[in-house]
Amino acid sequence: MGYRKRYKKQLALWVDGTSVHMHKGICCPDFSCCVPENLAPLEERELFQELYLAGKHSEYEKMLMMFLGRGLPLITDKKVYIAGGKD
Ligand SMILES: [Zn+2]
Repeated sequence: MGYRKRYKKQLALWVDGTSVHMHKGICCPDFSCCVPENLAPLEERELFQELYLAGKHSEYEKMLMMFLGRGLPLITDKKVYIAGGKD
């Protein structure tokens, strides 16, 4: 399965309330697979998925930043791989 396909599956599960950490270490948009207390509300998860599937990059990236901003204090305590970040 390609990256996009797998990511879409990860998103669908996440919207459903199951946060899975993807095969190559990619977290859910809100990092709730590694930081359960950071799980975004259902309406935000649905909106994110909608924007992603519609290919609205700048809009879903804004949401990613929002999730990241919320989760950062929690995340810095743990070892979480952030896509695009340095190892
Ligand atoms: Zn994760």
